[in-house]
Amino acid sequence: MSTLTIATNGHSIATIPSESIDALGAELRGRLLLPGDADYDEARRVWNGMIDRRPAMIVRCAGVSDVMAAVRFAGAQDLVVAVKGGGHNIAGNAVCQDGVMIDLSPMRSVYVDPQARTARAEGGATWGDFDAATQAFGLATTGGLISTTGVAGLTLGGGIGWLMGSYGLACDNVLSFDVVTASGAPVKASAEQNPELFWGLKGGGGNFGVVTSFEFRLFPVAPLFAGMLLHPLERAVDALERFHAFVQEAPDEVGALAGFVTAPDAGPVLALILVYNGPVEDGERLFAPLRAFGPPILDNLAATPYRVIQTMFDAGAPAGLRNYWKSSFLKALPRDAMKILVERFRQAPSPRCKMFVECIGGEAGRIAREDTAFDHRHSPFNLLILGGWETESGDAQNIAWTRETWKVMQPFACEGVYVNYLNEETDEGSARVEAAYGPQKLARLAALKARYDPGNLFRMNQNVRPSA
Ligand SMILES: Cc1cc2nc3c(=O)[nH]c(=O)nc-3n(C[C@H](O)[C@H](O)[C@H](O)COP(=O)(O)OP(=O)(O)OC[C@H]3O[C@@H](n4cnc5c(N)ncnc54)[C@H](O)[C@@H]3O)c2cc1C
Repeated sequence: MSTLTIATNGHSIATIPSESIDALGAELRGRLLLPGDADYDEARRVWNGMIDRRPAMIVRCAGVSDVMAAVRFAGAQDLVVAVKGGGHNIAGNAVCQDGVMIDLSPMRSVYVDPQARTARAEGGATWGDFDAATQAFGLATTGGLISTTGVAGLTLGGGIGWLMGSYGLACDNVLSFDVVTASGAPVKASAEQNPELFWGLKGGGGNFGVVTSFEFRLFPVAPLFAGMLLHPLERAVDALERFHAFVQEAPDEVGALAGFVTAPDAGPVLALILVYNGPVEDGERLFAPLRAFGPPILDNLAATPYRVIQTMFDAGAPAGLRNYWKSSFLKALPRDAMKILVERFRQAPSPRCKMFVECIGGEAGRIAREDTAFDHRHSPFNLLILGGWETESGDAQNIAWTRETWKVMQPFACEGVYVNYLNEETDEGSARVEAAYGPQKLARLAALKARYDPGNLFRMNQNVRPSA
């Protein structure tokens, strides 16, 4: 009798007879991929090229029943489980070594109810899928900046996007989640049904089960005044200072990000990216003083359909490069911090390295802190240092640059970190998970975990361990 060996959560190996594997395959509407099958290598690939793990099996789910079958199969033998939404997680938590990968990428439907202004997205949908479906009706909700990022992982960790000043984070606009919990049972979580689970899924990550669909509130979003201003590094501190003063006073409708990037034609630059979610003429008037400074070496601000804005930066975030990130919410961004950022960017070992300062505020900052598991909505800025490079030989140098840059910015940082930007964090480990939630929320999440996943089946994530 042939068998398959699979890793268990107890760090041992389960030997599973081929009849059991065949029985699982026969139960599925989707496909079961084993090493050597066509599509296996494509399916195990995730955005970060540093991740190269080989699951013992990949369950390509065609619907909720497949997710239930996969969870029950893995749960019965306590196998290592990974769940893939859009596969963008920097830590590579969507794929596991020798375990069961539950791949939701065939589940990408988005159903829009234009009258109710709601959309239901399946667990494998990307923001590109979501924005295409909702913008067909002139509607949108806060979503990620790159169209290939998964709705699932981004929303479960919080969800930073251009519209957050107007409408809150992605998770703030979820009306209900459909979840397959560790027992394999489907559960609905909303303000009325299982409200504690509803709270935990708004920022608590993939800890509580596999979310098979998300119901979002939508808003009318017409073409917006948006684009970027590029400045040379010599002018970056002064430009950043003006940007900083501007965002402090900016209305909720402004989405803003300052980025250090290497532009194809201009080399290393400061990019000030601006989006105005309101009448185009108002945006034009509002951004005029920022546009007048310099002048910028590029100014492409213009009336732009939201869906176009949502794909505008895709080319700068290709899949398959090697990536290592570190981030922290910032208390403030004084001139000294700006000078350090410019200096550190000059030393970046690869043109693929970037640094972003995201501005948090407006509605995202007004929603009560205790309303969601996501914790850091009152920090004014989030700093993300993105080490990116092409080949293994660059690993040590680029990782060291990312870590050192993060370290020298710590005097300006809050305790907190955005869970969606965490690496594997092997050195700091659970301390960074505690930093993401704070001790009180972490204890509340641990109690929720004990209720829905007492055996910690879903541990390939920034893991909340079940309370005793
Ligand atoms: C290029 C790029 C751009 C980004 N831009 C933004 C941005 O604009 N705003 C922002 O807030 N973040 C952004 N992020 C970070 C992003 O939010 C996280 O990487 C997030 O984890 C991606 O979700 P995913 O579904 O694509 O990832 P995956 O790797 O598939 O999953 C991430 C985590 O969520 C779990 N998970 C995935 N799907 C499900 C599900 N259906 N049910 C339960 N658990 C699930 C996984 O197990 C894993 O632990 C970006 C990341 C990248 C790489």
